[in-house]
Amino acid sequence: MDIAIAGAGIAGLAAASFLRRQGHRVVLYDQLDKPAPIGSGLIIQPTGQAVLSALGLSEALARRGARIDRLFGRAARSGRVALDVGFGGDAYGIGVHRAALFELLFCEALDAGVEFEPAHEVVGVHVGESATLEFSDGQRSPGFDLIVDALGLHSPLVEREDPFLDYGALWTNIPLTENMKMMPNTLEQRYEGARKTAGVMPIGVMANGPPLAAFFWSLRRDRFAQWQADGLDAWKEEVLALWPALEAHLAVIQNPEQLVFARYAHHTIQNPVGRRLVHIGDSWHAASPQLGQGANMALLDAYALAKSLSQTTDIDAALGAYKMLRQRHIWLYQTISQLFTPFYQSDSRLLPWLRDCIVTPVSQLPPIAAVLSSMVAGNLGLDPSAIKECACRPA
Ligand SMILES: Cc1cc2nc3c(=O)[nH]c(=O)nc-3n(C[C@H](O)[C@H](O)[C@H](O)COP(=O)(O)OP(=O)(O)OC[C@H]3O[C@@H](n4cnc5c(N)ncnc54)[C@H](O)[C@@H]3O)c2cc1C
Repeated sequence: MDIAIAGAGIAGLAAASFLRRQGHRVVLYDQLDKPAPIGSGLIIQPTGQAVLSALGLSEALARRGARIDRLFGRAARSGRVALDVGFGGDAYGIGVHRAALFELLFCEALDAGVEFEPAHEVVGVHVGESATLEFSDGQRSPGFDLIVDALGLHSPLVEREDPFLDYGALWTNIPLTENMKMMPNTLEQRYEGARKTAGVMPIGVMANGPPLAAFFWSLRRDRFAQWQADGLDAWKEEVLALWPALEAHLAVIQNPEQLVFARYAHHTIQNPVGRRLVHIGDSWHAASPQLGQGANMALLDAYALAKSLSQTTDIDAALGAYKMLRQRHIWLYQTISQLFTPFYQSDSRLLPWLRDCIVTPVSQLPPIAAVLSSMVAGNLGLDPSAIKECACRPA
């Protein structure tokens, strides 16, 4: 088939490589002149690792990323443990700089023979005997048998209400030095209620640079202007009051431009497939990164789409199979994310109290701890056939 993929993000690049390897002609469109990832670090869970392994990228990922064994958080005032989850068995996460992951996927797509068309901002799609993309300069693409919408959260090919949550976060990357005393191989956080969160996680290396950590600070989006007006020193005082051990980390941040404010969003579209059109990754479903699943979900979508298209030449049947393969897992994680996010990011006083005094102690009981590990690993409710050949271990 002739397949157009709109969006050279995590989902689009992975889908492009899989589909090209199956022998399809694949053209990848992105709005950027030069593809470039936005953001800081993310965690590749065992599910995402399995998909990257199917692309032959496991070793490269291990070289660039940093192993993460545990997610740990403490309420700053009471000292109570508010989050303590591992991955179960010998599983682990890999913290990686978004740009490093992007580079691996982009090189892999080009090597596979994917045609890349930069500087094409997609504004619409037309479907008839074939499907075409419409661009912001009024031009149209040639006709394709199938269009894959991997345009992410802001896809113009999806109708949705304002998906943004009240809270987002400031993010930056920090070179790690010996005087930064953190728990090894851990995404570590400190909280004040659910209104303030500081977090640090190792994300490996970029090129030949030093090991890096991603640092984030939770912030309501309507307080971002006030944060800018207050200035860096006032903010550093606030962070240090919450977590004094971050002094060396904060010393690296010398001006506000080093911090990028990321808005968090939550949305799921009911039907990810149409005639000659399919949505993958954040264009189908996006969630707050509290559970750290978005990139992994995008990779699983890409894999499931390629697998479904490899099993029949009937496009509608293949898209139906793709939806079946993914929808239960996505529904489950979207629901869990919606339930859990306010315990860690909201104005509620009750929820963080329940979190520290009841939910976290109960979650340490063995059967519940095992379910939580499976949830963090991305395996909960996953259709085993969705990644069977990837040798992942669904729960
Ligand atoms: C701060 C933050 C932290 C996160 N941490 C994690 C984590 O730890 N673990 C995890 O799994 N997930 C995490 N996520 C979520 C994860 O980043 C997303 O789920 C993932 O990037 C989705 O991939 P995607 O390919 O669907 O979309 P994207 O990665 O957003 O890619 C979309 C692509 O489409 C292009 N594009 C967009 N609009 C147009 C247009 N109109 N025309 C042409 N091109 C266009 C963009 O340039 C981009 O290349 C985090 C997200 C944020 C914001």
